[in-house]
Amino acid sequence: MIRIDHVALYTGKESFQDGAVLVEGDRILYAGDRAACPPADGAQHIHGGGGILMPGFYNGHCHAAMTLERGVGSDLNLHDWLHMIWPIEANLTPEIVYWGTMHANMEMLMRGCLGYADMYFFEEEVGRAALDSGIRVNLSRGCMNIKEVDSVRTLYRNWHEKGEGKIRVSMGVHGEYTSTSEMVRHAVEVGNELGAGFHVHMSETRFETDGCLERRGVTPTRYFYDMGMLASRTLCAHCVHMNDEDIRLMADSGAYMVHNPASNLKLASGFAPVERMRKAGVKVALGTDGASSNNTLDMMGDMRLASILQKGLTGDPTALNAADSISMATRSGAEALGWDAGLIEEGRQADMILLDGSAENLIPMPDIPAAIVYAAQGLNVTMSMVQGKVLYRDGQFLTLDPEEVKGKALEAARELGVI
Ligand SMILES: [Zn+2]
Repeated sequence: MIRIDHVALYTGKESFQDGAVLVEGDRILYAGDRAACPPADGAQHIHGGGGILMPGFYNGHCHAAMTLERGVGSDLNLHDWLHMIWPIEANLTPEIVYWGTMHANMEMLMRGCLGYADMYFFEEEVGRAALDSGIRVNLSRGCMNIKEVDSVRTLYRNWHEKGEGKIRVSMGVHGEYTSTSEMVRHAVEVGNELGAGFHVHMSETRFETDGCLERRGVTPTRYFYDMGMLASRTLCAHCVHMNDEDIRLMADSGAYMVHNPASNLKLASGFAPVERMRKAGVKVALGTDGASSNNTLDMMGDMRLASILQKGLTGDPTALNAADSISMATRSGAEALGWDAGLIEEGRQADMILLDGSAENLIPMPDIPAAIVYAAQGLNVTMSMVQGKVLYRDGQFLTLDPEEVKGKALEAARELGVI
């Protein structure tokens, strides 16, 4: 058993200025006031040092191994950027993807991200890197043809529910502009046959949305809805250019919109109408996108940006308030990706993170959710726990050697011709 105390606890629903948590195996046994915490004789004790104990982040849209392409194609729009990235990605090997992903896993764990939805190549390597580092992952291959769609059957069979349930597999469709209708139809069939969720880039740029209207006479949202791909376990990354009908279809289908504010702003794609979509009943999760268009995997930074961006866009200071922003980045992400985590409450999976209570930017903190969203930074994370295991604490990793990972990542970036 593990007992964590001397913390300001934010459970995802409630705040406790003097909180405590008990963890038994992979589950939470108690979360609440320290004074009411049952005795835990013989438990391993973690003294929180007055820091904030909160649910971890779940990154709803990422291309983890793109950490190797960080800094490539800066100051370009999405389509020019893609034409710079694709020739580099033609040189990817399983080994390169493994080390790029380990590099990403290290960065995410250090910044409190405990799981993510990946879309990339050689997803078996992404699964292997997740097993080796202990992080959660929802794997999807970014399919662009029927052969790739068929390969998802094997990926699903070999990896779905592996790693004590930390690894899941979804059917990935790269996007409308890189697919034929025959392929999308096949992806929906295979995905449904497997019982898998879906993961797709959707309505990211004006160019994509206008192109789809020209090619197919409908918006990307209408197109994927009509193809039967939008459902309760579908992750639709971006949703920047959405009309009223698109928003209604998202709400009706129960699909998740994954908001990627830093990537959308950096690639000059625009602003997603998050507040309008939330008010219409659309479920929203948060993502960083790849490190080549963000250029970090810091969910804390994207969460803060998402919140203040919606306030500025709507002129309403209550838009995407602190509690809603945390929920989007934690609980909603865990639900979207398929894990029983994202809240610190009895019976849930023991996933949580600790922020440094002695950090100058977190003193004082009369309002804990506000401190998390508006003041904290990813580098304030001092501990990341997944399924009751402390994977990162005070600069030390349980599962990986950071010097080895950085060295191998640099070697892989060299092999790719990035540096
Ligand atoms: Zn993406």
